[in-house]
Formats: sequence, C-alpha cells, structure tokens
Amino acid sequence: MNTAEATTWYFKKAARIMDVGERIETLLLSPLREITLQVSIELDNGEIRTFPGYRVQHDNSRGPMKGGVRYHPALDIDEARGLASLMTWKTAVVNVPFGGAKGGIAVEPSRLSGKELERLTRKFVDQTQDILGPTRDVPGPDMNTNPQVMAWIMDQYSKYHGHSPAVVTGKPLDLYGSKGRDAATGRGLVFICKQILGDINLPLKGTRFAVQGFGNVGSRAVRLLHEEGAVLVAVADSNGGVKNPRGIDVPALFEHAKKNGGLQGFDGGSPCTGDEVLTADCDVLLPAAIGGTLTRANAAHVRAKIVLEGANGPCTPEADEIFEKKGVLVVPDILANAGGVTVSYFEWVQNLQHVTWEEERVNAELEKAMKDAYERVAQISRNRKLPLRTAAYCLAIGRVGKATVLRGI
Ligand code: NAD
Repeated sequence: MNTAEATTWYFKKAARIMDVGERIETLLLSPLREITLQVSIELDNGEIRTFPGYRVQHDNSRGPMKGGVRYHPALDIDEARGLASLMTWKTAVVNVPFGGAKGGIAVEPSRLSGKELERLTRKFVDQTQDILGPTRDVPGPDMNTNPQVMAWIMDQYSKYHGHSPAVVTGKPLDLYGSKGRDAATGRGLVFICKQILGDINLPLKGTRFAVQGFGNVGSRAVRLLHEEGAVLVAVADSNGGVKNPRGIDVPALFEHAKKNGGLQGFDGGSPCTGDEVLTADCDVLLPAAIGGTLTRANAAHVRAKIVLEGANGPCTPEADEIFEKKGVLVVPDILANAGGVTVSYFEWVQNLQHVTWEEERVNAELEKAMKDAYERVAQISRNRKLPLRTAAYCLAIGRVGKATVLRGI
C-alpha cells in the first residue's frame, strides 16, 4: 500500500466508527486541486532538462493549506496526494488553523549544482505562484529541501506579489525564519514520548530507545532524548549505524557523524543496518527515516513496547494491525511528528505580525500544543477504546468535518 492508500485506509477506519456517511467521506477525502507541471531549466552545461512537478491542495476548510515541498525522484502525484491528505489530518489534530497540501519535484537534487537547484526552485514558483500565498497555500521544507530553498521560494513569490515572508515557512533565521523551527519535530516527539510514558508510569530517564534515520528529525530527537537521560541502544542512517545494548555514547556519535558525514563506521558498538534498528531490543522505537518501513514482513519481530512515528507513514496498515494484536502502542505520525507544522504555524504568525518570538516562547507554546493534542487523542482513545491512530483520525475528521459543514458545502 502506498502513502495515499494507507492514509485513505486509516481515514476510512475512523470515518466508519464515526458514522460520517459515504457522501461526507468522499467529500473529505477528495483533494480540492491537483496540479502536475513540467518544470524545465537550462543546466550549467547548456542542456535543457524537464522535471515533473506536483502540488496537491487537499483541504482548506480550517485555513490556508500547508505542506512541504519535496525534491525526490520517487515523488509522483499519488505520493503527493497521500501526503497532502495526511497534512489535513495532522494540522487538525494539533489544532493549527491550516489545511493540508504537499508537492515538489521528481528530481535527485544531489545531481544538480546549487545554481541549477535555484533555477529549478524559481521555475517551480513561477508555475505555482498563482495558487500559493499566505492566505492560500503555504509551503515548507520536506525531504531534500532546506531553508535556502525556502528563501528562494519567498524571493520568487515576492517578485509577483510584493514582500511576502508568510508565503513559506522553514526559512533561514536571517530571513524571517522562526527560532526553534529546526528542532521542532524532534522536540515535539520528545514531549509526546514523555506524556505517553507518564501514562504507563515509566520515567523517560533510563528508557531504551532505537532510532531509524539520523536526519533533521532523528538526530534532534536523539540529542533531546539523551539530554533527558534516555538510553540510545540502536541507530542507523541509510548507510548503516550502530547498536549497543549497554547504551551508545551519544556525544561521541554526533562527533563521528560530523567528521564522517554519517553514522557508518562508528565503533561504539556493533554495526547495524536501518532494518536491524527496527527489531532492536528497546522500549521505544522511533522510525524517523522514510515511509513504509514497518510492514507485514517485520512487524511481528519488533520488540519495542512503543512505536513513535517520527517519519510520515512508517507503519503500513498491515503492520499496524500486527502491533494492535501484539499490544505494541503506536503513536501515529499525525500526532507524534506534528511539532514541525506547529512551529511552522508560529513562524507564519510571526511573519504576519512582523514580530520575532524568543526560542523559550516557541518551545513553551509547542509544548502546550503537543500536550493538548495528546490529551484530546488519549481521551478519545480511552473513552472509545480505540488505538491512538484511530482516535487521532476521529479528532481530526470531527474538526475538519465541522468546519466544512459550517462553511457550507
Ligand atoms: P532527512 O532527509 O533530514 O533525514 C532522513 C534520514 O533518514 C537520513 O539520515 C537518511 O540517511 C535516513 N534514511 C533513509 N532511508 C533509511 C533507511 N532505509 N534506514 C535508515 N535510515 C534511512 O529527513 P527528515 O526531515 O529528518 O525527515 C524524516 C522523516 O520525517 C520523513 O518521513 C519526513 O517526511 C518526516 N517528517 C519530517 C519533519 C521535519 O520537520 N523535518 C516533520 C514531520 C515529518
């Protein structure tokens, strides 16, 4: 099942429990707008290359649509559709006034020079600027896009519409970015992890965790969990990593990653692949790499008590069912990794008001938003005896559904 099919499956499971009816189901599931582009640029060597681009705007009943711009060769309209829908439910769970969108370009950015990447980004904006905007659709970073790419988006959009920092989030701090945005997804994961462990009377200190992926989300979560006294027992990026049941020396691991550009070859334990991390002996498993990594094939072998979804869509519905039967607690992506979009909302608010918040304020507001969302989801889960994912979808469908009906269909 791809991301779109999996998101639809989770949505339908919750919608049937809520008895929203087939007509409303179809209404809430259908994207408002999908566009496919041919983004052509001249390469540095004079050759002309054309890359497929996409933007899917799923729902705007609760506010402007929000979602990342991804540069990845495997991106297609189906993937963008699934991720856009996921954003609608995620923004609703954390109750930020946004809808959902997603898009990007099917490209391997490491094969392009900086200048080529800039031309590609500006061309993408030329072709989408009429459907973007601070009150329409606010992109942000996603796989292989970064604050520099967001700066180009802001600049190119502003050429058409005047100075518009609020058109995009995840910008550099020197160009209207928000303090605390970089670490927000990892920090949000740690807030949720503390809440959930508290509910089962386990302290975070001494909890053993395993992390797949060591990019923005994985590495920030590792650092913050380590600072809270949790013990890292396995970690890997796409080239491999390390496991050590007695605990990995986290500061030394960061030092190694900085020097070598990755985790491979770190000698503070035995070598470990990304797949092996998933079945490591630990209390909390944090998949923070790509979608679809926990499947029917490996879910039964997962030894963690809790799966905290850092990545978008790491568990397939088949894996989810196996976890439910095994009593593994899955904290769904639309709750667990919503810290990023929450601080993106804070960035948009700061840009619209022409103010800058201190990092303490950003982190405190993030903690409140994540705790509130967790409380609401946990309450639905307890009252209706539902897994956290279904409870989170019920909360989101309720909020989006009410907004849709109130506005008038
Ligand atoms: P990133 O590109 O910074 O890092 C991805 C990491 O995953 C890299 O370390 C890469 O080597 C690793 N990886 C890829 N395939 C792997 C494999 N098979 N085994 C082990 N490691 C593997 O990306 P990111 O921003 O950290 O995002 C990670 C995930 O979290 C994505 O699914 C993304 O959609 C999701 N997410 C990110 C944010 C955010 O704010 N960055 C917010 C919400 C969700």
